[in-house]
Amino acid sequence: MTVEKLIEDTSVNLLRQAVVELPTDVSKALERAYKVETSEAGRVQLEAILKDIDLAKKYNVPLCQDTGVIIFYVKAGVKAPGLGMIEASLQNATRRATKEIPLRPNTVDPFTQKNVGDNTGRYIPYINWELTQGDAIEITAFPKGGGSENVCNLGMLTPGEGVKGLKKFVVDSVIRAGAMPCPPTIVGVATGGGADIAMKLAKATLLRPLDQPNPDPQLAKLEKELYDAANATGIGPMGLGGKITVLGVKIDYAHRHPASYPVAVAFQCWASRRATARINSNGTVDYLTHKVF
Ligand code: SF4
Repeated sequence: MTVEKLIEDTSVNLLRQAVVELPTDVSKALERAYKVETSEAGRVQLEAILKDIDLAKKYNVPLCQDTGVIIFYVKAGVKAPGLGMIEASLQNATRRATKEIPLRPNTVDPFTQKNVGDNTGRYIPYINWELTQGDAIEITAFPKGGGSENVCNLGMLTPGEGVKGLKKFVVDSVIRAGAMPCPPTIVGVATGGGADIAMKLAKATLLRPLDQPNPDPQLAKLEKELYDAANATGIGPMGLGGKITVLGVKIDYAHRHPASYPVAVAFQCWASRRATARINSNGTVDYLTHKVF
C-alpha cells in the first residue's frame, strides 16, 4: 500500500471513530456528571446524552447530526515518508468519510452559501501542523461542532487587568454562551502571543484529556478555580439549569507583548470528538484513543 493510501485509510478510520464514539475521558466525565447532577431537567438531558452515546456505538452511527467542520492536528516527524502527501490524503479521507459514514456535508462558501457537498473547501479540512523529531506521523481528527464554535470569544484585554481580568472574561464568556454550545462543555482558555496565537492555543488545549491535569501546578489551580466558577453559573446541561455546566477547563499560554493581553476562550460541546493514531514508518498504525472498528 502506498503511504498516501495508508494516511487516507487511517484518517477515514479516525473520522469514523471520532464521530461514533467519544474518547473515554469524555464519556466517563459525562457519566460522573449524571451521578452528581441534582437538577431534574439537567439529569434528563444527561440521561439522553448517555443513551445517545450508547446508541451511536451500538449502531455505528454519528452521535450528533452536526458533524462539524473537519479539523486535523498533524505531528509530522521530519524523517517520515510521505510528508508531501498528507494534505491530499486528508482531503480524500474527508470526502470518503462524508460518503461512507456518512457525515452531514457542512462546508459552504461564505459569499455564495453554496454547499460543496463533501465537507471540503478552501482551507478545509483545516490542518494544524507541528514538526516533530523522528519518522512517525501522528494524526488527530477533530470534527468541530458549529454550536460550540459560535460562542468562542476573544478579548484583547489591557495588561493591567491581570489574572483577575482573565478570570472575569472567561466566566462572562461562559454566561454569554449559555445554552448555545450544548453544555456541559469543555472550555479551552489561552492567553498571550497575539489574537491568532491565543485562539489557536485555546482550541488546541481542548485536545488534552479531561483526566490529564495541567503540568503547571499554578495553572492546574486556576483551571480548578475557573471550573468551579463556571459550574456556579447554574446554566446546567443543555442550558436547562443545574450544577454541571462544564466538564473541564484547560489552560495554555504563550509569552506576550508587554502592551498586549489577548485572552481566548474556545468552547467544545459535550460531543467532544477526537481520535488519534500514529502511523509508523514501517507501515504499522497504532490507534491511540480508540479500538479499530
Ligand atoms: S454544538 Fe456539538 S452537540 Fe451541539 S449540535 Fe453541534 S456538534 Fe452537536
